[in-house]
Amino acid sequence: MSKIKVMSPVLANKIAAGEVIEKIFNVVKELVENSIDAKAENIKIELKDAGKSMIKVVDDGIGMDKKDAKNAFLRHATSKIFKDDDLFFINTLGFRGEALASIAAVSEVNLETSDGKESSNIIIKGGEVIKEESGNLRKGTSITVTNLFYNTPARLKYLKSEPYELALTTAFVEKLALSYPDISFMLFNNDEKIIHTTKSGNLLKTIHELYGPLVSSNMLEIKGSNDDYDIYGYVSNINILRKTKNKMITIINGRSIWNNDINKMIEEAYHTYKPEELHPICIIKIETDPTLIDVNIHPTKQDIRLSKKEELKTLLIDTIKEALYNNNLVPEIKETNDNSIEEMLPKTLFLEDDNETKLEVSMPKYDNIYTTKDFDGNQEEFDFKSIVDDKNDKLKKLELYPVGIAFGTYIIAQNKEGIYLIDQHAAQERINYEKVLNEITSDKSTTLLVPFTIELSKSDFIIIKRNIDKLTNMGFVLEEFGINTYKVSAHPIWLKDKINEEVVKDIFDTLISEEGHFDIKRFNDNIAATVACKKSIKGNSRITLDEASFLLSQLVLCDNPYNCPHGRPTIIKFTIYELEKMFKRAM
Ligand code: ZN
Ligand code: ZN
Repeated sequence: MSKIKVMSPVLANKIAAGEVIEKIFNVVKELVENSIDAKAENIKIELKDAGKSMIKVVDDGIGMDKKDAKNAFLRHATSKIFKDDDLFFINTLGFRGEALASIAAVSEVNLETSDGKESSNIIIKGGEVIKEESGNLRKGTSITVTNLFYNTPARLKYLKSEPYELALTTAFVEKLALSYPDISFMLFNNDEKIIHTTKSGNLLKTIHELYGPLVSSNMLEIKGSNDDYDIYGYVSNINILRKTKNKMITIINGRSIWNNDINKMIEEAYHTYKPEELHPICIIKIETDPTLIDVNIHPTKQDIRLSKKEELKTLLIDTIKEALYNNNLVPEIKETNDNSIEEMLPKTLFLEDDNETKLEVSMPKYDNIYTTKDFDGNQEEFDFKSIVDDKNDKLKKLELYPVGIAFGTYIIAQNKEGIYLIDQHAAQERINYEKVLNEITSDKSTTLLVPFTIELSKSDFIIIKRNIDKLTNMGFVLEEFGINTYKVSAHPIWLKDKINEEVVKDIFDTLISEEGHFDIKRFNDNIAATVACKKSIKGNSRITLDEASFLLSQLVLCDNPYNCPHGRPTIIKFTIYELEKMFKRAM
């Protein structure tokens, strides 16, 4: 039965106006989405000069009969779109017929297609059929587009450079391949293979095929659902972060989209796990009732509007945080930064096979590693064993034994897997940050033996006065004391002995900078980070091995032991394997 139907003139005009076909990748998109609709398992895209000279898409889908093949080039014909709003309805892709007509109107198209019974070959130029005869394809469709925009010089002018157009097309095919791991995609430009996925049906394998082993080995699986959304996918650990967001890929109901709100939710899940200016790689598939998303946006952009945003936000943040929490994220130092495919997998196997070059690592017994004395020599309540039982897997990986301190700044530690360097300031900052964040919501205060005063500028004084409740809620006792001055007579209990004018001034400053867009969660977070920094030992100050040991014992108990509150690393690792490689014990 023929599948081509007639579409509304509105949509037809939109397409005729060139909103759909303006870049090479738009042509590729229409052709490839047709192939997906035709249930193809293998889709091959060949470009010449990034598509400026030729775009060819070959698939092994259901093909078309003679009537459909011809109708495909008629204006206003489509297999599935009936009204304007349907254009980007998430559960359907492409609109055979109309897109072909649009493309055929501004290029030369050679269509060969077969539904397994009859095969036809049609050549069309500038919308006119030049040749129509029987073809010899067994089953599937092959469409070759040449001389794109030959009769519309204005649009030809809008095409960008070959590398730019190719980058857009590659990014598009990448996203399709990630959306459909059960379809094989191949992309060639001038006979050079750019993309090849093998229809493994496995998302991680597809990530591996597209981005290589360095990326795939640093991805964490995520999976979660609530009443409205199911999410599944992979997010990078903190070892592979990027300066751009263009590998933050979201696929909603099978369609890849770009949505700033969703990207913000993902970034929030990484809060303090990374510096703000770096971004994760992620491929996240979201399934939801199509009525919860609104897709009436310009056809060449791939954005959507969401209802039930908060529900999605909570789900995304919780699920990603859980993945970060449950995995060992210590960055490993590699001898080279070579990301090539040969670099990683085979050599790891080699080490395992070759016992002779392996270092014998004898470790102290785990129970004895940590002292329970804190910096002032006080014995702290510290039931290590029960906590190990609670969080066993993650902690065992982070069993750290300090062996020295370099530059009064870096603790050198070891365990069975390698040598670690720990930034003592960053580590303590993390510990203090989590402590303060836990305590900051209590309003218990401690009275100062000797109150002190803080003098402010007139404008700052006014702001503090206006927001004084936020400080008293925290446990500060403040009173106005002369011109533009506050007297501090009690402070929150979590400030403990490190209270001084400078810390209070920092807290005031944080409050002042939040004036006008105050958010209690962010405020508490900023205060905790500021206070943690002030309370922590600086670099270049000597601590003893016992103190280092105590520090490490607390660090491994943190929710996120890998980063200071500013997202910088607290700890890095040289694996035994990498050391052996550098000393040529393992080749
Ligand atoms: Zn700091
Ligand atoms: Zn920091």
